[in-house]
Amino acid sequence: MRSITGATRVAGVIGDPVAHSLSPTLHNAAFAALGLNWVSVPFRVSADQGKHVVSAMRTLGLVGLSVTTPHKDLAAQAADEASNTVSILGAANCLVGIGNNRLRAENTDGDGFLAGLYEDTSTTVANSTVAVLGAGGAARAITLACVQSGAARILLLNRTPERAARCAALAPEHVSIAKPTDLLHADIVVNATTVGMAGNPQLPVDPKYLRCGQIVVDIIYNPLETAWLRECRKQGIDAHNGLSMLVHQAALAITHWTAEPAPIAEMRAALLPKLGST
Ligand code: NAP
Repeated sequence: MRSITGATRVAGVIGDPVAHSLSPTLHNAAFAALGLNWVSVPFRVSADQGKHVVSAMRTLGLVGLSVTTPHKDLAAQAADEASNTVSILGAANCLVGIGNNRLRAENTDGDGFLAGLYEDTSTTVANSTVAVLGAGGAARAITLACVQSGAARILLLNRTPERAARCAALAPEHVSIAKPTDLLHADIVVNATTVGMAGNPQLPVDPKYLRCGQIVVDIIYNPLETAWLRECRKQGIDAHNGLSMLVHQAALAITHWTAEPAPIAEMRAALLPKLGST
């Protein structure tokens, strides 16, 4: 740990809960590799206190914050400026101090997903059919990023139809509500539900609907191998976890804060002891 001095700048992550967050590990690895006298710390902020965070950020001169549940919508509304992506999604996972006490809201989940997909598979979504399981915050960000990056079609499957419809409305000409038997037509299948997280070892969809030749990404990273990934791999499907997305969405935040290319390898290396190997 580098020594804290009067010149140390502070970044962090806000959420509730936040003790489990891997963001400080990723941020601090990046700051060290970039030779910055910056530090990232977790701030547990309850839902009803979120409204004070933006003014606290200004008062304390924080360089940036990663934003997680339950503050993503509020962060999008409270900043002085918002990226186009944030304006469309209505949610931000990153606040950036931009000088003169002003803040910009960004959402790096979608582009983090695309960068992670490319790192793991050398694949882009251009002209592909992408199936997205889920319609929550991560699914919305991934859906929008895929459409903006030239995916031909998004097939959306979600437990709650109203939420699926709201997600499909992000790009109605590209997104259709689908059923498991439609998954056969997808090139890439993404689990963006919470099903399969540690303590919830179910399958988001029966792997019998998938086929060899598809790329599967489960954006969950705890555990690194969900039951669904294991079953897909047993079928010979090229299947990847959420580790690369996690690293790349944080890397994009680092670049927003520092205007430097993020040290991806060092960030990933810092994570692995916390998660086990891939
Ligand atoms: P969220 O907004 O709460 O959305 C949860 C989604 O999971 C909803 O679509 C929900 O469906 C679905 N779901 C929950 N329980 C279900 C069940 N029993 N059966 C079927 N569907 C169920 O969560 P989020 O923020 O989008 O996060 C989703 C997942 O992505 C989490 O596992 C999170 O850790 C992961 N994530 C990973 C990264 C990364 O960098 N790798 C980044 C962000 C998120 P309903 O609409 O029907 O409730």
